Amino acid sequence: MSVLTAADIRTNIEDVQARMAQAAARAGRSPDTVTLVAVTKTFPPACIEAAYEAGLRHFGENRVEEFEGKIAGTAIAHLPGMTWHMIGSIQSRKTASVAEHFGVAHSVDRFKIARRISDRAAELDRRLDLLIEVNTSGEQSKHGYDADALDLIEADLHQMLNLPAVRVCGLMTMAPYMAEEAVIRQAFRDLRMVRDTLEARIPGIGLPELSMGMSGDFEIAIEEGATIIRVGSALFGARTYT
Ligand SMILES: *Cc1c(COP(=O)(O)O)cnc(C)c1O
Repeated sequence: MSVLTAADIRTNIEDVQARMAQAAARAGRSPDTVTLVAVTKTFPPACIEAAYEAGLRHFGENRVEEFEGKIAGTAIAHLPGMTWHMIGSIQSRKTASVAEHFGVAHSVDRFKIARRISDRAAELDRRLDLLIEVNTSGEQSKHGYDADALDLIEADLHQMLNLPAVRVCGLMTMAPYMAEEAVIRQAFRDLRMVRDTLEARIPGIGLPELSMGMSGDFEIAIEEGATIIRVGSALFGARTYT
């Protein structure tokens, strides 16, 4: 795998930020309503430092093991103002590590995961923001609550509201891979509709964050209301695995 130079990464960040601003403008939104999470899975620490130097503060990894091996215990785990996002599916036995290292967990797909993160975060005197992963693509391979399972999501959200060390602040989805634009767009719209429905059903909850959009589809996601996009290869180059 060839690693990009810091200058290349800076150029890519500027390019992605310009495209984010254009997409936001098309949707009549201010560009500062969208947070760019740099997805650093498979990339070495030097890439994280380069992106941090270029001004990014939000970073995402999808596997706890990789975070622990590559980042935890190094200086780049806690650079000033930095927030780490867990964007991959979370196993029960990894919840303690998530609570320890991450500020945001995007892929909560059952109550037990939220409870275990909260339990450990409370012990550590930490607080995490959680996003509920919803499968809006219908693909069996994707994790997350079924988009049709609104009663289940609602019931679990009610329980999560009582957890002391986590705050559910929105929803996350992944669009179908390599689909037509209309299909991708519909997946993002569906996430927004699930959010609107849940906000109507649970008075006072507030689910402002929609984490949706990756390198191939973040502009569509922003047009459809994304407040967080998760971008890896457009910043750091091709990965040898996903
Ligand atoms: C890898 C990954 C991304 C980023 O993918 P790119 O196509 O490289 O931008 C976003 N979200 C999740 C959940 C991922 O695992």
